[in-house]
Formats: sequence, C-alpha cells, structure tokens
Amino acid sequence: MRRPGFIQGRASLASRCTLAVGGDADYLARASSVDQARDALEWARVQGHPLTILGGGSNCLVADEGLDGLVLQFLPAQRRTLERHGDRVHIGVAAGHDWDRLVDWSVKHGLCGLECLSGIPGLVGAAPMQNIGAYGQQLDNVLEAVTVLDVATGQEERINRDELGLGYRTSHLKTEWAGRFLVLEVEMILRMGAPESPRYGQLQDALSGAREPDLAQVRDAVLKLRRSKSMVYDRKDPNHRSAGSFFMNPRLLDDDLIALEEKLVEQGIDSEALPRYPDGDRWKVPAAWLIEAAGFKKGLERGPVGLSSNHSLALINRGRAQAQDLVNLAREIHQGVAERLGVRLWPEPVFLGFSDSVRELLEANK
Ligand code: NAP
Repeated sequence: MRRPGFIQGRASLASRCTLAVGGDADYLARASSVDQARDALEWARVQGHPLTILGGGSNCLVADEGLDGLVLQFLPAQRRTLERHGDRVHIGVAAGHDWDRLVDWSVKHGLCGLECLSGIPGLVGAAPMQNIGAYGQQLDNVLEAVTVLDVATGQEERINRDELGLGYRTSHLKTEWAGRFLVLEVEMILRMGAPESPRYGQLQDALSGAREPDLAQVRDAVLKLRRSKSMVYDRKDPNHRSAGSFFMNPRLLDDDLIALEEKLVEQGIDSEALPRYPDGDRWKVPAAWLIEAAGFKKGLERGPVGLSSNHSLALINRGRAQAQDLVNLAREIHQGVAERLGVRLWPEPVFLGFSDSVRELLEANK
C-alpha cells in the first residue's frame, strides 16, 4: 500500500506542542476527514507502524528521541445542533474544533454549561479524555456521548457517557482504552438561560461586583483569572511554553491527610493553612500548595527549565530546553514533595515516546 499523499515524512513535534520540546515523528498525518483518518490508520497497520494520536499538543511531553511510526491529528472542526428540547440544546462538535472557540460560541448564544471552562487550551476531542474541569464545572456535567473510530477495525462507534468511566480528570479513554480509539465527535447538552451562581471562592471574588453574573461576565472573570496564572496560551507571556498544570491535585484518604498534617508540622509549617476540599470519601489538596510547601517556589529556575512565575504547578521550558530537562525537574519536585511531605504527585500531561514508565522516570535514583 502506497503512503497516502497527506501523510508527511519526518515532522517536528516540538512545534506542535505547547511545551515546545521533543524530537520528530517518523510520519505525520493531518486528516481532514473521517475517510482520511481511516486511510492513515490502515496504512500504519499494513506497514506495522506504531500509532500516536495527537490533539492540540497542550497536554503532552514528547521525548527527545521523538516518536516512531505515525502521529495522527484529526482536523475536522464542524459544529452541529442535533436537537432542541425546551431549554436544552444537544450539540455535536467535531474533535478538531478549538475548545475555547466552542466555549466562546456557547456563551455568545446564551448556552450554559461550559463558561467556567473558558481559556483551556487544546481541542474538543481531548476534552473527554481527562474530563476537563475548572472552577466548579466539569465536562461530564454536559457530556452526552462521544463518537470514535476503533483504531484496530476502522469502525465508527458511539459511546454513551455512562460507559466512559468519567471521573476526576480521567476516563477510560485516558486509561484502559488508551490508544484504542480516535475521538471524532463529542456530543453535549447545554442549557439555555442564566448561569448557576459560581461556587468557587476565587471566581466569586473575581466577580465580586456582579450579584447575578451573566454568562459573558463569568467567562471574562475566568479568562482574567487564568491569564493571571499564565494558564491561557499566549506567546507574549514568558511562561507560555508549558503544559498547564503539570501535576494532578492529589485526592487523599483521611489517614493520608492526617499523615500530611504531621509532616507539615515536622517541617515547621502551620497545618491549619493547608487548603483541603471534601471530595467523596477523600480530600482534594492543591498540588501547587504542596510544591511551594516543599520549597519549590514560583519562578524557580533550573537552567533551561523552571516553574512559571505565576503558578508553581506549571513547569516551563524557558527557551532552549530538552524534554529530559523537564523530566529532571519533574523528578526533583516529585521526590522533594514525597520526601518532605510524604505525598506522591503524578503528572497530568501524557508522556510520549519514553521507554521508561512515568513512575520509573520520576522515581529513578538520579
Ligand atoms: P486552584 O483553583 O487553586 O485549585 C486547586 C485545587 O483546589 C483544585 O483541586 C480544586 O479543585 C480545589 N478547589 C479550589 N477551590 C475549591 C472549591 N471551592 N471547592 C472544591 N475544590 C476546590 O487551582 P488552579 O491550578 O489555579 O486551577 C484553577 C482551576 O482550573 C481548577 O478548578 C483546576 O482544577 C482547573 N484546571 C483544570 C485543568 C484541566 O482540566 N485539565 C487544568 C488546569 C487547571 P478542582 O480541580 O476540582 O477545581
């Protein structure tokens, strides 16, 4: 089988990822239709090439060695209204649609459910992978189904929200089904009307002037908050080469929370100051707070990498970094927080092209 014309050989991945590090892909397919995606998958299968699916590149760390085989990006970005029922509007959005453009469109059309998710970089297809959430809203509040292409068979399949294993920043698409499906379309049901009152303190503070804020006010406040933390992708911001939050916020059981409080006291830190939020049978604790408590401050520099000067949770490429520099800093922070506070932080971005597992990379004795 001949290589389809739209598949290019040797393509830079650093230029396609917000961390701006990593080697090249052997082949890159930028598929403009489902048929092209199917052709690319079949070609890779026949050639025996490994496959990597790449979205907007805002949540991945590519190894310096690059990626063997085929990297596939799905470009279609149409948006369609499937049904209107009372104040509910059921939409289907192709996976290549820019996430924040969708939020902007929903706010301009008076549709609630996405406004707190303003300013998250990346594409719609990546949103269900880790069930994106921010400031009290989460994709699974509005997600209805996803349509996917089975990578092995080329068959389309519609998967209902209940079968997706959606949880806090996770889904089966990210875990047990990783690499099995290409997301083609995401269906959501949005509500026409006024937004719910924001529950998150930071957002309430940012909206303090408005008693019953409308959708546009909520979106503006979220964008302002995110910008102040360098969490909106902006090339003019010196912190912009990042993957947003590098570590997930840990969810601790009661005993682990008590152990953490004891560690804080040992370190001479007031354990009362530790923010904690009940989350089912666990306590959500901000990873950024732990990183700072372990001595890693905003603006920390380690040669070509460092921590964002506006958010200690964002590892940044300060200019000429290699992926290995970021791995080294992630390891230093992972091990420093574990030693000083007894909590293990795990990365949120996907690591691509590394021969060791993330655990091996972060727990190695180096
Ligand atoms: P933050 O707002 O300082 O929050 C840190 C942690 O505290 C998060 O785990 C957050 O939970 C929790 N939290 C804060 N206020 C809370 C409240 N009133 N009730 C319950 N939990 C509360 O963190 P940040 O890094 O600056 O991020 C701002 C928002 O963007 C957060 O909601 C964060 O989760 C979100 N974010 C999402 C993604 C993503 O989906 N990929 C990436 C980066 C940041 P939640 O995580 O449940 O909000």
